Amino acid sequence: MTATIIDGKEASARLKDGIAKAVADLKAKHGLVPGLATVLIGDDPASQVYVASKQKTAHALGMNSVQHDLPGATPEAELLDLIRRLNADPKINGILVQLPPPKHIDPFKVITAIAVAKDVDGLHPESAGRLMAGGDSLVSCTPMGCVMMIKDVRPDLTGLHAVVVGRSNLVGKPVAHLLLNENCTVTIAHSRTKDLAAVCRTADILVAAVGRREMVRGDWIKPGAIVIDVGINRVPTAEGKSKLYGDVNFAEAVEVAGAITPVPGGVGLMTVACLMVNTLKATCLQNGITDVEIPTRLPPRA
Ligand code: NDP
Repeated sequence: MTATIIDGKEASARLKDGIAKAVADLKAKHGLVPGLATVLIGDDPASQVYVASKQKTAHALGMNSVQHDLPGATPEAELLDLIRRLNADPKINGILVQLPPPKHIDPFKVITAIAVAKDVDGLHPESAGRLMAGGDSLVSCTPMGCVMMIKDVRPDLTGLHAVVVGRSNLVGKPVAHLLLNENCTVTIAHSRTKDLAAVCRTADILVAAVGRREMVRGDWIKPGAIVIDVGINRVPTAEGKSKLYGDVNFAEAVEVAGAITPVPGGVGLMTVACLMVNTLKATCLQNGITDVEIPTRLPPRA
């Protein structure tokens, strides 16, 4: 079997198209333009690339977007003060602080300083709690993108066994909760899981969010399974550049899986688009707007 490739570029283009239409609708009906503030502390090259792509995408979709670049030595109190000002700014509907911050800044303090209503990264404990307990919440972007991609291949996930490898607050736990909400039977695996390969082999849906290059081998995959590779592992090349690898050995997995996301060109592109979904949603929630259709799944192919 050769798997269907779940193309993140194509999927995110469809999603962005849906968001752009909703943003235009919001403006036409209510005169409102979603406002996103991104905050970058320091000069980590990967973080700079991520933030630049978020800014570019927000502008391309018709949103307002403001970038705050802070020096790496910025004191924690100064960052928290900026977050407080953004919380109070009515033109800003969503706040994203690019993580991880430099070592002297406590990421938990940063995450909890952001107003829940503007928590477009979905990382505030209250957002995470709402995802678990039910209620309208801003859901962490990468997990949202993973589930949209899975449902694009298989709209009804009821009764399927999903194995999520990784239990981080950023990816593993929220993706597991979203799959549970889709009526999957969910297993969360991690570094202490016994016989991980055997656990993975039972998965109809396998989500790898580990951060270990090509750890998941072809013979860990149940034939026909949907495989979502979240991992981004940067490996330096002889030319002084870097090459990206996923957590799944793609060459092996593509021969066994039913559908699979590549790295690069998979989940990462959806993450940025889902941040825009959250910015739009936050704007609507903050203004009590219910007559604008916020994409909750990938729009159909034209
Ligand atoms: P974390 O480091 O926070 O979590 C990694 C998880 O993997 C942990 O739960 C850990 O288990 C588990 N793990 C580590 N080693 C093993 C192992 N040998 N076997 C089984 N489980 C293991 O990472 P994140 O969740 O933040 O990110 C995971 C990957 O996804 C990274 O490569 C990251 O770069 C990428 N990523 C990609 C995004 C995208 O947009 N595409 C967005 C966010 C992340 P334990 O808890 O027991 O330590």
